[in-house]
Amino acid sequence: MTDDLKDVVSELAQRMLVEWDVNSICTDVLIGFCDLMSDEALRAIDEHPRPHKKPHELLPGTRSGMAFFLPFNKEIVESNRGGRWASREWVEAYISVNRLAQRIGAVVSLAIRAAGEQARSVPPTGDFSEETLSSNWSHKLIGELCGLGHIGLHQMLITPAGCAGRLISLVTTAELEPSSRSDAQLCAYLRDESCVECIEACPVGAIRPDGFDAQACYRHCIANALRLPEMPLAEVCGKCAATRCALGPG
Ligand code: SF4
Ligand code: SF4
Repeated sequence: MTDDLKDVVSELAQRMLVEWDVNSICTDVLIGFCDLMSDEALRAIDEHPRPHKKPHELLPGTRSGMAFFLPFNKEIVESNRGGRWASREWVEAYISVNRLAQRIGAVVSLAIRAAGEQARSVPPTGDFSEETLSSNWSHKLIGELCGLGHIGLHQMLITPAGCAGRLISLVTTAELEPSSRSDAQLCAYLRDESCVECIEACPVGAIRPDGFDAQACYRHCIANALRLPEMPLAEVCGKCAATRCALGPG
């Protein structure tokens, strides 16, 4: 049953990627599973630097988590290299792939419910507090627990397919076999201080080895959104995610 459900989830996500026709932006989806009731997961949630919902607060009876990463392709990444402002291609990719990610979450939840379990997906940009500049649910933490990668100096999840893309997560009452995880450090700065590309790429100096300035980052993302009034509001920048680890580990 567990493996069947995992196969259904993977097939649905792959099919939606094809049917959504986002080939010019994204051609793959990485999927991971984790046991959210394990001591390790509960400790990681408790120790998260910002307030984080407990899995059962999102969905009573939660047992497992799932994370989906939709990586942008090389052309989108290259369009956003250099300069101060996010490229139009990057912003369009962010908007389109966010919508696809949200749809994947909704359809996968329905499929899990059809299999007799409960599920709840968390939108890619949901529950954001403008006061703390953070959400009370971290897709990146769930992505790490699901074995999709590790968070780099720029605070993005670096996966085997890089960090440029969109990430969502979902909780379910189904008991799913966790994906394997690696301890390998995927950020070259955190590994051996051999890269500072994201520090250099950030137009507002938000990334520093001793901490991340979320206020400065958010102000710049808002300024980006205001520059493109003809597009849906998208507070993005992504200069730091178009660097050495954009398309694979740094
Ligand atoms: S650009 Fe370099 S330092 Fe920054 S997160 Fe990626 S690998 Fe780490
Ligand atoms: S998103 Fe832009 S402003 Fe924010 S940390 Fe990355 S490069 Fe800096």
